[in-house]
Amino acid sequence: MRFAFTAEQEAFRGEVTSFLKSALPADWDGADNAIDDESYEFGRTFLKKLAPKKWIAPAWPQQYGGLDMSHWDQVIFNEEMGYARAPIVNTAAVGYLGPTIILYGTDEQKQQHLPGITSGDVVWCQGYSEPNSGSDLASLQTRAVMDGDDFIINGQKIWTSQAHYADWMFVLARTDPDAPKHRGISYFLLDMKTPGITVRPLINMAGGEGFNEVFFENVRVPRSGLLGELNRGWYIATTTLDFERSSIGGTSQAKRSLEELTRFAKSESAGNGTLLWDSALVRHAIADLWIDVDMARMLSYRVVSMQERGLVPNYEASIIKVFSSEYIARQTRIGMSIMGMYGGLWGEGPWAKLRGRFSKSYVASVGNAIAGGTSEIQRNIIAQRGLGLPRQ
Ligand SMILES: Cc1cc2nc3c(=O)[nH]c(=O)nc-3n(C[C@H](O)[C@H](O)[C@H](O)COP(=O)(O)OP(=O)(O)OC[C@H]3O[C@@H](n4cnc5c(N)ncnc54)[C@H](O)[C@@H]3O)c2cc1C
Repeated sequence: MRFAFTAEQEAFRGEVTSFLKSALPADWDGADNAIDDESYEFGRTFLKKLAPKKWIAPAWPQQYGGLDMSHWDQVIFNEEMGYARAPIVNTAAVGYLGPTIILYGTDEQKQQHLPGITSGDVVWCQGYSEPNSGSDLASLQTRAVMDGDDFIINGQKIWTSQAHYADWMFVLARTDPDAPKHRGISYFLLDMKTPGITVRPLINMAGGEGFNEVFFENVRVPRSGLLGELNRGWYIATTTLDFERSSIGGTSQAKRSLEELTRFAKSESAGNGTLLWDSALVRHAIADLWIDVDMARMLSYRVVSMQERGLVPNYEASIIKVFSSEYIARQTRIGMSIMGMYGGLWGEGPWAKLRGRFSKSYVASVGNAIAGGTSEIQRNIIAQRGLGLPRQ
């Protein structure tokens, strides 16, 4: 096996790198983890720079604003975006809703929704979780009742990332309360400007307004907003989740932070006339991280090779989700402890090492292991669907 990218692929990598250099400010060191209006607007402006190159969703078909890019080119693209810490906006639409519409949408739905995503004009959020339905998502209680040509939605969603910015939401609602729970759910595409929707921000522990509660009071969705068949929404929803969990090329950002940590340890005094790097404990901890970050990359390449063959990754996506989210937590924790007392500091001051990136990422890493399905749920999937262990 030749374990390398081709010359064309490397040339494409160079093209992406030079584009990013010109499209991002010269002193760009990456977005802050806490999303605020300013960083969000910066992200949307950046989307508009990607759009003319058709690089918002390059793997999508050309007719919907993509480039029919191969999954491997998409990996290269994602790796360079991650390494440059380029702002990522509209992940839910580009990464998982769009591919779901391509699979299950009618021609009208494809025409209506996909071009807005690839032009950078329409931002989506994901209305799955409810106050009492997260891991056991199929128990969701938000109701949609048919009324003439419309459905009327009542209920509540929670932890809805970016709902305060989103133009549209893909939302799951119960359409048959008498059916077994997985068989009474439908999948809707909902304009967030529809009357009856209230969005309330939730502040996360990093101080950011990342997610929200969303309330629906007699919200009307036309029948054309139903994706796939009535009461079959659960099966579509799980496809969306498989796309969500298989995010490819995501470890390059961690690799860049690890490079920075390695340089830091090599140059920072340990306070007794030696450098941090002189400690075998520090060197071994960093070496372990290098091995793990490469493993995460290989696991994500496995998912890509499946996608390239037209397969939808399932437990394979859960493996990469659980491994990479736990890896980030490990990397940030080890990084903070290598920095000693300075490791927990945030902000731009002189004492916060590496701009406090490790402590901020550590706080965010808690949520990464929950969002998109917790690590426990991923392990259940790996056990049952991957290893064939019985459900208990
Ligand atoms: C940063 C972030 C962003 C998010 N964005 C969105 C979004 O945009 N849209 C959206 O719909 N949701 C979003 N979520 C919500 C996320 O999907 C849920 O938080 C997640 O699915 C867990 O559900 P829960 O919070 O209700 O926890 P619960 O399901 O109540 O779980 C509580 C604990 O019990 C464990 N547990 C539950 N069931 C089992 C089981 N069967 N086996 C073993 N352990 C179990 C869980 O692992 C967890 O540790 C986001 C969450 C975070 C943290």
